[in-house]
Amino acid sequence: MDLFFGTSNPGKLRELLRLVAGLPVRVLSPAELGRPLPEVLEDGASFAENAAKKARAFARVAGVPALADDSGLAVDALGGAPGVISARWSEDLDPRPLPRAERDLANDRKLLAALARIDDPGRGAAYVAVLAVAAPDGRLLASAEGRCRGRIARSPRGGGGFGYDPLFVPDGHEATMAELAPAAKDALSHRGAAFRALRPALARLAGLAGTLDEPRGNG
Ligand code: IMP
Repeated sequence: MDLFFGTSNPGKLRELLRLVAGLPVRVLSPAELGRPLPEVLEDGASFAENAAKKARAFARVAGVPALADDSGLAVDALGGAPGVISARWSEDLDPRPLPRAERDLANDRKLLAALARIDDPGRGAAYVAVLAVAAPDGRLLASAEGRCRGRIARSPRGGGGFGYDPLFVPDGHEATMAELAPAAKDALSHRGAAFRALRPALARLAGLAGTLDEPRGNG
């Protein structure tokens, strides 16, 4: 089965490419689409809504089933923020269109400042990811959620991963996600958990490949 990985986030794409290994799917990445990914307004109230919306939009454009990831960080002491706006959380402080790496740093700084007065037991958080797969006709074919509990470190550590990883210490570990080897992050992460939950459905869909593509001659 051809499966389009709809994400403009190179960190997510790297992880999804690792996680899909062993499944009978041929991954098409945004670079192979031949045109820019459509902008999808991520205005849903939940990760699941946004993931489904993105998967539908990307499958329509790609003409083959598409997988989309919507994910983020939910911090206990912040009532679950930044949640669905994790990627753009610091835009209120700095609304300039920043390159992704700089936006990630600005988000990390905002998180450290928001928790400056919170002691270690109060620094609990969860990473959440929803992976959705949609067909070019807009049907939602599968969806799965994964979570990873942890706590927010007092200062950033590590050069791996992306986003909030230098500040996220998974439960049972001392290292941040950004200090872990890629395979170790996959084994612990919200995205890894979501992908493992999605795997049986993807394997089933791969068995149905061909019936899910846009019918030929249909514009
Ligand atoms: P979105 O799913 O495109 O809305 O963006 C998700 C945002 O959540 C990313 O830009 C990161 O800021 C954060 N995020 C999601 N997953 C991870 C992860 O595995 N590591 C670090 N940050 C993440």
